[in-house]
Formats: sequence, C-alpha cells, structure tokens
Amino acid sequence: MSQGIITASYIGASILFILALGGLSNQETARRGNLYGMIGMAIALVATISGVTGNMVFLLVALLIGSSIGLILAKRIAMTQMPELVASLHSLVGLAAVLVGYASFMDPESHFSGVELTIHNVEIYLGVLIGAVTFSGSIIAFGKLSGKIGGNAMLLPARHWLNLGLLIISIWLCGSFVEESAAGGGMMPLLIMTGIALLFGIHMVMAIGGADMPVVVSMLNSYSGWAAAATGFMLSNDLLIVTGALVGSSGAILSYIMCRAMNRKFIAVIAGGFGTTTGGGASSASAEEQGEVVVLQAPEVANLLAESKEVMIIPGYGMAVAQAQHIVCEITKTLRAKKINVRFGIHPVAGRMPGHMNVLLAEAKVPYDIVYEMDEINDDFPDIDVSIVIGANDIVNPSAQTDPDSPIAGMPVMEPWKGKTTIVLKRGMATGYAGVQNPLFFKENTRMLFGDARASLDEVFKNL
Ligand code: NDP
Repeated sequence: MSQGIITASYIGASILFILALGGLSNQETARRGNLYGMIGMAIALVATISGVTGNMVFLLVALLIGSSIGLILAKRIAMTQMPELVASLHSLVGLAAVLVGYASFMDPESHFSGVELTIHNVEIYLGVLIGAVTFSGSIIAFGKLSGKIGGNAMLLPARHWLNLGLLIISIWLCGSFVEESAAGGGMMPLLIMTGIALLFGIHMVMAIGGADMPVVVSMLNSYSGWAAAATGFMLSNDLLIVTGALVGSSGAILSYIMCRAMNRKFIAVIAGGFGTTTGGGASSASAEEQGEVVVLQAPEVANLLAESKEVMIIPGYGMAVAQAQHIVCEITKTLRAKKINVRFGIHPVAGRMPGHMNVLLAEAKVPYDIVYEMDEINDDFPDIDVSIVIGANDIVNPSAQTDPDSPIAGMPVMEPWKGKTTIVLKRGMATGYAGVQNPLFFKENTRMLFGDARASLDEVFKNL
C-alpha cells in the first residue's frame, strides 16, 4: 500500500473513531457507534500492517495470538466481569507503552541527534512513565473490582507528601535521563523512574476506596489513551497519536462527568481517600443492621404492583449479577398492559461501570423512552406508588445525605423512600460496594423480598 493510501486510511479511521464516540453517547445510536468503531479499527489494522516493512511472520503470529486471546476472553467473560476485563485491558495498553519505550530507547537503528534526540528521549520518558502508572494502577483496579483486593482505601500517613516526593524525583530523573542518553547511557534513570511510576500507580489506586472507584476506572481509561498517544509519538504513528488523544480526552471528560454526578472533587478523588476518615474505609459499625426489616413474599409484591398506578424500577449491580433484565422487561410489559405507568430510574454509577444498567436494559429491549437519568426523575418519587429496587444498595442509601462520616457522604442518591412503598430485592442483608449498611431497608414504608433477583422476579411475574 502506498504511503498516500495509508495516510488516507488513517484519516478515514480517525473520522470513524470520532463518529463511534458520538454514537456511544446515546443509547439509540450506540450500536451504530460500535459498528463505526469496529470498521475504523479494521481499516487501521490493515493500513498499519501493510505499511510494515520488517518481518511479517512475527507480526502475523503476534496478531494471531492477540486476537485469539481477545476472542476467547470476549466469549467467556460474563457481563458482570466486564469492568474487570476493561481494567485488565487498560493494564495491557500501559505495558505496551512501557515495552515500546524501552524498545525505542535500545533500538540500535535509531539515528536521532541534537534537538531531535532530546525530543525523542523525552517522548520515551513520558511514554514509559504514563505507561507504568497505567499498568500497575490498572492491575490494582482489576483486583479491587474483582474483589481479589479489599475495596477499602489504604491511606498511608503523609501520602500526599509521598506522591509529591515521587513526582519531584521523576522530574529530576527526566533531566538526568536526557543528559545521560545523549552520551549513550541513561538506562539507570529510566529503570529507577519505571520503578517509581509502578509504585505510584499502586499507591494511587490503593488510596481510593468507598464508592469512588468509578472515577478511577474512567481515569485509567484516560491514562491508557495518553499512554497510547505517547506510544504513537515514539513510533511516529499519527493514527495512534490521534486515537490515543481521543481516548485520553474522552476518558478525562467521563471522569469529570462521573465526579460531578457523585458530587466529588476530581482532585480530591485522585489524591485518594475522599470521605474516608478512619483510614480503613467503612467502619464495621456502619455495616451493622439498624433495626427490623419487613419481609414480603412474591405474591404480595405482585399484588402491590398490580394495584399501583405509578411504578419506578431502580436497577443496580445485583440485577446484573442475577441477569434479571429480561424478566424485568417482561414484568414491565405486563404492568404497562394493565395501564400502569412504569419508569426506570438510572443512577450514574449504578452497577460496576458507566452505563452498565443502560446496556443491560437495552439488551433486554426495554423501551428507551421509559428509562430516565437520576436527575430527571428524582423529584417524582412523592408521586410513586411502588418503587422496586433490584439489587441496588449504595445508590439508594439515604445515609449519603444524612451521615457526614459515611464513605458515600455527599454522593447524590435516588430517593425512593419519598414514595408510598419501596420494595427491595436482594439475597440477604449484605452491604453494597461501599461496605455500608443502608437505613432505607429499615424504613417504615420499605419491604424486603429476599432471594436471587431473577428467581424472585420470576415468581412475581407468575403471580402477576
Ligand atoms: P451495590 O454494590 O451498592 O449493591 C448491590 C447489591 O446487590 C448488594 O447489596 C447485593 O446484596 C445485591 N445483590 C448481589 N447479587 C444479587 C442477586 N443475584 N440478586 C439480588 N441481589 C443481589 O450496587 P449499586 O448498583 O447500588 O451501586 C454501585 C456501587 O458500585 C457504587 O458504590 C459505585 O460507586 C460502585 N462502583 C460503580 C462503578 C461504575 O462505574 N458504575 C465502578 C466501580 C464501582 P446481597 O448480597 O444481600 O444480595
């Protein structure tokens, strides 16, 4: 393929990536957005491969291994494990940036000199730095999201000073790396900085706990984009620079939106441990039960629903675990056929990844026009006859508004307790992601329906 065609393909792929991002911002256009992204990536791969002049066998074998792993993972991973998968994929982007950085540094055929050499070395240094932070941070995020590492914030004493110290040392090492590499050396400062960046990534994500992980997930998404852009600079690949910058900036915007939705200050979240005063995350007292709960059985829940006029469904992580979205859709159809107004209220951080609930509801073919964002419907609860909370916990926790010591203090929550009756579906009295007990369950107008959400809703459906 001639260089002109490759450049044209790169521009085409970049446009498709931008269209993909635009499409993903709305449920109705999300499928199309995904398709644009896939076509863009296919064009990018073909154009890049055809421009390679080195050993094709290595490249094809690597492609075969990579795509087989991707295919197997995509087939095996359950929807609930998606956030962990995304975190582990981010770690691979980070690792790639580190490896490309070292490879560029050691490349015997590299023939830069003077200012060009300095710029190239700064690119390498930054690429390795961002890549190493992304790599180790994403591995810790993977551990936290999959429950392999406790979700509580690990707050070291003087952690802000520690971070600042690591930053200053990294900047200083950049100077000596550029200086030494001009004279043919530089490996030692690069290695030391890599170690520091790896430690920084671990420390940064370990210090974030409570319910602030959504911001970390989108922030690491952003970092992985900047790591890819840095790799693009090292390899002089324009498409990688553009794509990396797109991922980096959209991830940063998403982090900002998530912070706003959770009433958090971005810097405070990144600095770690926001809202956690004890250093150990949620105190055990806050996880204790706070009175008696009233338990209902499925037939009673079906009666309550059938007799209501306004129903609000609030899905959470448990709906994803139970894969209850299809039966939720069936119940919705039945209730609407009885002329009951059913709406869905979606909290911005429900589930374990941005848009988690919207994806599940779209998969079950719940009509988009009855699915509302929290801000759109939170004022309507006083008119609601029955709210059904399906496997949600933190996002309906009133202590976010009433307990300033709670790890979720200040996070906006859905307010079903303002309606006539709230029915909570969960398996037992376990806490949610943030590890705090929920006073909603003990309120006078709350009823519990215990059991796996899907099994419970199957029963409710039969009784309807
Ligand atoms: P939570 O994690 O707060 O609560 C989920 C509840 O679902 C649990 O209390 C659990 O109780 C119940 N549950 C689990 N499995 C089932 C099942 N099979 N059937 C019925 N119930 C079940 O989820 P929310 O959606 O309310 O809140 C999301 C939390 O995750 C927030 O704290 C958010 O900050 C955090 N988070 C969100 C991310 C995002 O991007 N959206 C990313 C990372 C974290 P029990 O075990 O008793 O059944």
